[in-house]
Amino acid sequence: MPAEPDLADGGRAVDRVLAGRLRAALDRPAAQQPCWPDAERAAAVVELLHNAEPIVAPEETERLRTRLASVARGEAFLLQGGDCAETFAGNTEPHLRANLGVLARMGEVLAEAAGLPVVKIARMAGQFAKPRSNTVDALGLPVYRGDIVNSPECTAAARAPDPHRMLMAYAHSASAMDLVRKLCAEGVDEPLAAQMVLAGARRASSGGPSFPGAGPSPRPTEIYVSHEMLLLDYERAVLWADSAGPEPRLSSGLAHFLWIGERTRQLDGAHIAFAELLSNPIGLKLGPTCTPEEVVEYVRRLDPHRTPGRLTLVSRMGHARVRELLPPIVEKVAASGHEVIWQCDPMHGNTHTSGNGYKTRHFGHVVAELAGFFAVHRQLGTHAGGIHVEVTGDDVTECLGGAAGIAEADLPDRYLTACDPRLNAGQSVELAEAIAKMLG
Ligand code: PEP
Ligand code: MN
Repeated sequence: MPAEPDLADGGRAVDRVLAGRLRAALDRPAAQQPCWPDAERAAAVVELLHNAEPIVAPEETERLRTRLASVARGEAFLLQGGDCAETFAGNTEPHLRANLGVLARMGEVLAEAAGLPVVKIARMAGQFAKPRSNTVDALGLPVYRGDIVNSPECTAAARAPDPHRMLMAYAHSASAMDLVRKLCAEGVDEPLAAQMVLAGARRASSGGPSFPGAGPSPRPTEIYVSHEMLLLDYERAVLWADSAGPEPRLSSGLAHFLWIGERTRQLDGAHIAFAELLSNPIGLKLGPTCTPEEVVEYVRRLDPHRTPGRLTLVSRMGHARVRELLPPIVEKVAASGHEVIWQCDPMHGNTHTSGNGYKTRHFGHVVAELAGFFAVHRQLGTHAGGIHVEVTGDDVTECLGGAAGIAEADLPDRYLTACDPRLNAGQSVELAEAIAKMLG
């Protein structure tokens, strides 16, 4: 890895203790990092990014912290979703508008059903890095790790990690964030109505409960942005000193909310140590191999000041095992007294390959994992705080099932994802309706 950025620069003055802790965090083993062919070039890019402006404003992240505290206390619901992998080519106004629209629509359905305000976080404006199960593909080429690292075409040149792509990712994220702000100010839910043909009648409601000060119609929509905190050369480059909390920390200028993926949650690894230093709210994916003891250790490390909503635990156990694996984890964390957000990702534990060779998920399995998640929390008396889903407002055919009855033979029609299969607009709103029934 290149040398860490000089955090004593300009407005980013960070005390020596914090700079030392950052260095120590980044010295730990880091899973899923590309091997840049030219380390000097990578270091030069990190240096350039170190001078970049933050993409998200500190006061926005601060507002999200207060929203997430409400979720942790059971006073709000968290809806997080978007593409599995954003692409540079897909960073267009129609695509972002469609994805924000589907989130807004899902949010309306959930708000009305839960009788609670819904905090919306998009996987957007920076979801460009992907963890992979293998390092090489079937042809022996390095795997595609997201547009921030390399290109998906099947040639050695396209798959070579290129640090220059981190600059492109930053530029795409900044322009996406500008658009998110613009569309949110306009109120992103209105243009979606026409796309919601599969979702049944549009509810006549004003969208259910909202946070105070949401404003008159057309209602501005409050949407935050998030991505997986995966590529550490990128994440380390745009950090700001934040002395507002209980201890000095670093604020990521790249997203309001960052999460740690299932493949990079090693307790002795760099990702957890890096996240400990951040003041942004943090998510942590928990897969089926995770033990209750491990989770309590994560909670102790990532929420040392017992801040409600600081940590979102994202279970992704699979529909067949959620009812067995989740309860001991929830019980142990609840006994620890930390006020975490319990969020369910019903996508990543339910992925399989179709008979005709497509990575897919069945709508019924997604619903079944969520039903298990809500049942577990109901039984234990804890707040089922939210969902984390891979969805798009585009009319893709990537996941099976739903009211439109997408079958294996339909998958090739519009299988457009750069990584994992997403629910399309109709399936997404149908999912929100299914959750509404569970909440009812
Ligand atoms: C993802 O959210 O796209 C992802 C890779 O999830 P997980 O880390 O849970 O596998
Ligand atoms: Mn994914």
